[in-house]
Amino acid sequence: MTNHNLVLYPKNPAWGPSSLAPLADVLKAIGLLGVERSHGLYGTGPEYLGLITYLGCSPQVALGENEAATTIRINGIFDAPQFVHGANLKSPRCPQCRKTLAMPAASLRANRNLHCDHCGHEGNACGFDWRRSAGCARVFIEISNVFESEAVPGEQLIACLDAASDESWDYCYVRKAPG
Ligand SMILES: [Zn+2]
Repeated sequence: MTNHNLVLYPKNPAWGPSSLAPLADVLKAIGLLGVERSHGLYGTGPEYLGLITYLGCSPQVALGENEAATTIRINGIFDAPQFVHGANLKSPRCPQCRKTLAMPAASLRANRNLHCDHCGHEGNACGFDWRRSAGCARVFIEISNVFESEAVPGEQLIACLDAASDESWDYCYVRKAPG
């Protein structure tokens, strides 16, 4: 089964909390997280649909305790930044000249140091703009069953994450193919 995820992450790849508990507590308090199913994996909370904005006119959102229902996983804390991406990976934009790199996405996966053909800029893949198809961080909040661009985190949720961590947060979409 293919997995479609909306992934929230702090923009600063080097940042990591000393513990996940304060982050989880804040997300429980605002009603994003519901019942903890297993370690770090939660069902949706009572305010989920107020915190995540679905853009379609009649979104199909499965909530509750059903096995197929949407879940929220707090994933981390990794010792080093992880480059998270999936089958929907796009060619990134250069942080210097903003042009899109002319490289097949397949070749970008293994190559962590990228070179811009347009302006010559060279740098770690984390510093490039992946157009919401990848994220680089030490902690992630992964929301399942969200198709690419189907939903976005609301302002209240982003503001809450910013305040809880003293960092700016961003989001991307990651489609995980089976196997
Ligand atoms: Zn460039």
